[in-house]
Amino acid sequence: MPSIEKLIRRHLTDLKPYESIDPVGVVAERAGIPAEQVIKLDANENPYGCSPRVQCALGEADSYHIYPDPLNRELRQLLAGYTGFDPQYIAVGSGSDELIDLILRLTLEPGDRVINCPPTFGMYPFSTGVCGGEIVNVPRGPDYSVNVAAIRSAVDQRTRVIFITSPNNPTGNLTSEGDILQLLETEVLVVVDEAYYEFAEASVAPLVPSHANLIVLRTFSKWAGLAGLRVGYAILSPQINEVIYRMKLPYNITIAAEIAVRESLADMDYLQGKIRAILTERERLFQELKVQGILDPIPSRGSFLLCRVVKGEALEIKQDLEKRGILVRYYDVHRLRDKLRISVGRPEHTDTLLRALSEICPGL
Ligand SMILES: *Cc1c(COP(=O)(O)O)cnc(C)c1O
Repeated sequence: MPSIEKLIRRHLTDLKPYESIDPVGVVAERAGIPAEQVIKLDANENPYGCSPRVQCALGEADSYHIYPDPLNRELRQLLAGYTGFDPQYIAVGSGSDELIDLILRLTLEPGDRVINCPPTFGMYPFSTGVCGGEIVNVPRGPDYSVNVAAIRSAVDQRTRVIFITSPNNPTGNLTSEGDILQLLETEVLVVVDEAYYEFAEASVAPLVPSHANLIVLRTFSKWAGLAGLRVGYAILSPQINEVIYRMKLPYNITIAAEIAVRESLADMDYLQGKIRAILTERERLFQELKVQGILDPIPSRGSFLLCRVVKGEALEIKQDLEKRGILVRYYDVHRLRDKLRISVGRPEHTDTLLRALSEICPGL
């Protein structure tokens, strides 16, 4: 028997897995409640689901036995209409997660460096590890803004990519265009992850045509409620995009995902109504939490609120909520151990959450 170590690449033998969350069914069973009663506020999914047009079209389509277009021609044309960028500026991925992986496979030799600004989204260190790259952490400041000067001095000969999430997950704050411009001056590839763009309505995408080292990532997972169908896209220089289209798996976007994007973009009034409902509810949840005094939220431009736990322990509150079927996100990492991230739900989800919190921390 050969040893497993001899069969697989050395940097993958002790790779840390991506810390994902348990599926609803598993949590429901643990809590002893029906899965339909679970209130899922732990993954920033859309509490209203996808457009009903998507549901309908997926049932009626008759093209599932045909391979999708490797060049995503129709999707890129539709996204050109949505974003205002020509199709050659647009790459489509199986979620923006796939685009993160593609960008790192495109750029990293083993030992190359990637700058990450924690606390932030966990996919950048994960995919960097898979590619054999090395993460250089440049922590965000006390107000969670990126430390531009520290990033610039961390750049060295081996730095290939800088990841900036804006609005940041889980802290909810934007990075200014001025800061991004200063990072672009390093001439390192700067990837700005705008997964929550539709909630924040701020973007650095207009800088792409004049800055070949800028890539903007977006997704249909959050605003359009398509997390389960996996569609993300990048806005990037046509020269880099041409290489992406040579290296990516040809059939990364399913026919179902193509249909879902087409129908979502044909139902913008509906989806924008849901975005507005989420933004309104985010402000109500913020105010109610402040008044209640158990969790202290910080202002957010995303579809979630990061809250410092004022009374009690974050992990215990997370677990007590879970026993009641309410899922929120806890991170066992530096600077977030006393905090919870709560995705904005429907108004009735806010009400149930507030009631549960007052039961967990009585006498407040
Ligand atoms: C949710 C999220 C993503 C993942 O998007 P997918 O398109 O579902 O892969 C990417 N970046 C950030 C910051 C996110 O919060």
